[in-house]
Amino acid sequence: MKQILIVGAGLSGAVIGRELAQAGHQIRIIDSRPHIGGNCYTERDDKTGVMVHKYGPHIFHTDDEGVWDYVNRFTSFKPYMNRVKTTSKGQVFSLPINLHTINQFYGKTFRPAEALAFIETQADLSITEPQNFEEQALRFVGPDLYQAFFKGYTEKQWGCSPTELPASILKRLPVRFNYDDNYFFHRFQGMPENGYTPMIEAILDHPAITVELDTIYTPDMAEEADHVFWSGAIDGYFDFKLGRLGYRTLKFEEFFADGDYQGCAVMNYGDRDVPWTRITEHKHFSPWETHEKTVCYRESSHTAGPDDVPYYPIRLVDEKEMLTQYVDLAKSTEGVTFVGRLGTYRYLDMDVTIREALTTAEIFLNSDGHAPAFIVEP
Ligand SMILES: Cc1cc2nc3c(=O)[nH]c(=O)nc-3n(C[C@H](O)[C@H](O)[C@H](O)COP(=O)(O)OP(=O)(O)OC[C@H]3O[C@@H](n4cnc5c(N)ncnc54)[C@H](O)[C@@H]3O)c2cc1C
Repeated sequence: MKQILIVGAGLSGAVIGRELAQAGHQIRIIDSRPHIGGNCYTERDDKTGVMVHKYGPHIFHTDDEGVWDYVNRFTSFKPYMNRVKTTSKGQVFSLPINLHTINQFYGKTFRPAEALAFIETQADLSITEPQNFEEQALRFVGPDLYQAFFKGYTEKQWGCSPTELPASILKRLPVRFNYDDNYFFHRFQGMPENGYTPMIEAILDHPAITVELDTIYTPDMAEEADHVFWSGAIDGYFDFKLGRLGYRTLKFEEFFADGDYQGCAVMNYGDRDVPWTRITEHKHFSPWETHEKTVCYRESSHTAGPDDVPYYPIRLVDEKEMLTQYVDLAKSTEGVTFVGRLGTYRYLDMDVTIREALTTAEIFLNSDGHAPAFIVEP
C-alpha cells in the first residue's frame, strides 16, 4: 500500500484517487477551493432553486462508451441536447451555422445542395494556404458569415485579432447543410440529474480517500507521500519561476429575472460592441425541473491575472516556448505526475479528462508506483 497525495479535487483528482483507492492505496486529496469538483462544480442557487454551473456551462458529451459507463455508475444522467443561439445585428440565429441560419441570414429558401453551391460562391478561394484563423474562416464561408458569426466573438473570447490565431482552430468547414442544430456529434450526451457535484462526491466516496478543502499545497505534504498527482497549474508547481503561462479567465455577472429570460440555455453575442460573449440561463440545463424565477450569467473573457481563475490556456508561440521549459523541469522532477487541464496546460473536455485519469491510474498501478511526469505530453 502506498500513500498518495493528489492535488486538486476536480475530475482528474477524483478519478485517479478512486481508481488507486480501489486498488488498495491510501489517498489524500487536497484542494485550495472550499468545494470539490474543480471547474465542473454545480450548486443549487438559494434564491431560485435552479442548479447553477458556477464555472460556466458544462454539457457531458462523448463517443467513449467506457467513460459514459463510468459516469453513469456514479450518477443518473438525463438526456440533454446542446442547442445554442446567437444574437447578431439585431437578429437571433441558430448555431452551429446550419441550413436554417443560412436561409435566414441571406433571406433564401435553399435546399442543401443549393446552399452548398451558394456558400462556395461566398468563400474566398484566392486563399489557398490559410495562414491564420481569419483566412481559414474567409476561405470556408466568406466575409458575411465570418463577420456575423466568427470575427467579433473570437476577438472578445481571445482578446486578439483572429489574424493572430492559428488556422488550425477551424479544422473543417464549420457549416451544416441540413437543419441539425445539435451542437455536438457525439453518440452519448446528457446532463447529470442533480448536477456534477454529487457525481464527483460519489466518485470520492471510498473509505481509503480523505479530502481536505481550503487547503493549498505546500512541499512538506509531498514528503509524507510515496507519489504525488498534480492537477494544479504546471507553472504553479514550480512557483512560476520561469514566468506565468498565459490563460484567459471568465467573468460572470449574475442576474435574476422572473419566468424565462431568454428561452434557451446559451445565447451567444457575436457583435463587437456588446461586451459579453454569451448569456447562460442555468434553468435550461435542467429542462425536467420547474422554477418560477431564473438566474443568468453574463459571461465575458479577459486576460487572466495572478489571482484570477485560469480557464482557457492560450497556447500561442510564446506560451508554447515557456511550456516546453516547464515540461523539461517536470520531467526532471521525481515522484510527481502532472495531470488534467492545468497540469498539462491543455483544454480538455470532461470525457477526455476522465479517460486520461483512468489511463494514468492504470499506468501507475502497472508500473509498481513509478509513473512518469506525464501520461500525455502537454
Ligand atoms: C468555461 C468552460 C466550459 C466547459 N464546458 C465543458 C463542457 O461543456 N463539456 C465538457 O466536457 N467539458 C467542459 N469543460 C472542461 C472541464 O471543465 C474540464 O474537463 C475539467 O474541469 C477538468 O478537470 P481537472 O480536474 O483536470 O481540472 P479542474 O477542474 O480545474 O480541477 C483542478 C483543481 O485543482 C485545484 N488546485 C489547483 N492548484 C492547487 C493548489 N496549489 N493547491 C490545492 N489545490 C489546487 C483547483 O482548485 C481545482 O479544484 C469546460 C471548461 C471551461 C473552462
